[in-house]
Amino acid sequence: MRQAVTTAPGVMTVHEVDEPVCPPGRIRIGVEIVGLCGSDYHLFSGAHPYARFPQTQGHEFSGRVLEVGPGYVGPVAAGDRVVVEPFVECGTCVACRAGRSNCCSTLQVMGGHISGALAEQVVVPAEHVYQAGALAADIAALVEPISIGMQAVRRGQVTSEDRVVVLGAGPVGLAATLSAADIGAQVLVVDRVASRLENARNLGAERVVDNSRVDVRAAVAEWTAGDGAGVVVEATGVPALVRESFELVCASGRIVVVGISGAEASIPVIEFSRKEVSVYGSRNSVGLFPDAIDLVERNAARLAPLITHRFELDRVGEAIAFALNNPDQVEKVVIEIGGNP
Ligand SMILES: [Zn+2]
Ligand SMILES: [Zn+2]
Repeated sequence: MRQAVTTAPGVMTVHEVDEPVCPPGRIRIGVEIVGLCGSDYHLFSGAHPYARFPQTQGHEFSGRVLEVGPGYVGPVAAGDRVVVEPFVECGTCVACRAGRSNCCSTLQVMGGHISGALAEQVVVPAEHVYQAGALAADIAALVEPISIGMQAVRRGQVTSEDRVVVLGAGPVGLAATLSAADIGAQVLVVDRVASRLENARNLGAERVVDNSRVDVRAAVAEWTAGDGAGVVVEATGVPALVRESFELVCASGRIVVVGISGAEASIPVIEFSRKEVSVYGSRNSVGLFPDAIDLVERNAARLAPLITHRFELDRVGEAIAFALNNPDQVEKVVIEIGGNP
């Protein structure tokens, strides 16, 4: 089978390798669609904190089940279209024991720590495989990023009573927007790219703010009658916006940081107590794939325009370079590997 390997920063080649075997407890999947995201771009360039080489990238994917491992008892059968929680947890650390395997202390994420989905076949833990129902392969590949935004919204305990500010309208910010709006919250989304703000509107944002032209603090103050937002979801990883979250949130409010960066944010210590804010980190998702599949199914038509570019497996390096060089044009790039979308 063919497998893409990032051999060094900025260098990806496609190799012919043996088909993987499927031991007990695992499921072998023929990959159909792999979505690329910001972390893939940073892993590719070597800038991501988890970057290592050589590595097969890819963690957002859909496919068809080719084989279930011996002794498997569960709903998934050969031929099913499935989506996969793309990590392997230890099962025994403090986070795993608390039911939060998404932040396992030795978490191994596909495409980062362990081999990912940019290949014709992958073998994954059976308990992380979910039937994708009637979803098309390309839309099904959006389930994982949608689950990331959903996790951030759950971490922030968003309710229908909340006014939520989402910083960043990339795929995760948009997923948080859709997820919060689906709960019934009112959502204001901040970005500096007009097409992304248009996507945010289409996915349920009540208000959008272009922070290259508009003062965000004033806009949020006006939107909340001076209170500030009940919840701020920081989905950029930009230190200045992590800092800004403390200005935008209301007294007693919640901040959820889901954006990723190795950079340091500088925050006056008094900001934690001044408004008695609750600050949450959010990583991957846990237990949310069934809800994420449902959310994607109900919004498939609205989500389809987020897939802006398609490439084949032997052009992944080119796809990533294109995305890095054209951030204003690219929302979601997908790699078409096999099957019939
Ligand atoms: Zn991703
Ligand atoms: Zn663990």
